[in-house]
Amino acid sequence: MVQISGITPSGHVQLGNHLGALRRWAAEGRPDDLYFVSDLHAMTTAHNPAKLRALATEQLAVLVATGIAPERVFVQSDIAKELGALTWILESTCTYGEAARMIQFKEKSKGQAGVRLSLLTYPVLMAADILLQGASKVPVGEDQRQHVELTRVLARRFNTTYGEVFTVPEATLPPAGARVRDLAEPTRKMSKSAHDSAGVVFVLDDADQVRRKIRKARTDGGSVPAYAPETRPGIANLLDILSACTGGDPAELAEEYPSYGVLKDAVADAVIEELRPVRERTMELLADTAELERVRKAGAVRAAERGEHRLSSALRLIGAG
Ligand code: ATP
Ligand code: MG
Repeated sequence: MVQISGITPSGHVQLGNHLGALRRWAAEGRPDDLYFVSDLHAMTTAHNPAKLRALATEQLAVLVATGIAPERVFVQSDIAKELGALTWILESTCTYGEAARMIQFKEKSKGQAGVRLSLLTYPVLMAADILLQGASKVPVGEDQRQHVELTRVLARRFNTTYGEVFTVPEATLPPAGARVRDLAEPTRKMSKSAHDSAGVVFVLDDADQVRRKIRKARTDGGSVPAYAPETRPGIANLLDILSACTGGDPAELAEEYPSYGVLKDAVADAVIEELRPVRERTMELLADTAELERVRKAGAVRAAERGEHRLSSALRLIGAG
């Protein structure tokens, strides 16, 4: 069983990505799982090429630094030729109506001038990511389920129209984990592409930055910690983060701290310790460009080889190549 997950270099990796995704990916350690930096997905809206390149390199380093086996990772654009070819085949299997129906496309294109065609076709590229690698499981949140459903439709349609090539994948729900919220605006989730990063802890922030952001975290009325996510989301978020870093039940943890200030210091200490090894290893990898390049090249070769027979079969069956 091959399971595939990606992370888009739309910003620096943040604490929520670490606690909710990367740390789990590393811990699960299933030998056939694949993890990729989806840099081609970051081009559906205006983007800065130099920044995108730097962020993709950084994310690859963070994935490996978190403990994901280097032979399980790759950067999407390193197999752009294979993915581009398969995307075209799948676009020729998909109708305009099916793509235009995607909720994410409708939401993101609404009222926008100069909408990129890639915003419309992006779910087909996502289908290519999944089908090229023969993945059978795709853990995704609610916002991506419709895209995996489209992938299933396209895989089935290709298989019945031209011949069996693709594994029909299944969307799975990632195990429930606490959603880390923005420290400055705790009604929102923490996001790497947030416009204002005051409330976002990045995995590569140094200890002082982490402490400063956590000390400034928006708190709720009162001064004694209690776990009440509905009425006191700021404090509940800090307790959830503490619980994710050190273990323990958030409601019970609340009782251990006499004041918001003491709690914030404990959360800062815990987050700094949690991120320290990832940050240190990432810095080492980013400094060792030869090693990172080796991991990246090997990942690209493996990802291309893994999908080669599916792409050549699909081309042959569709009457090309
Ligand atoms: P963007 O702002 O570009 O959407 P993001 O920070 O939301 O970035 P994604 O690339 O959308 O990150 O998601 C990568 C992984 O991190 C996904 O598995 C997602 O569920 C997880 N994730 C993202 N934000 C959080 C969060 N605040 N708490 C827990 N998990 C999160
Ligand atoms: Mg997101």
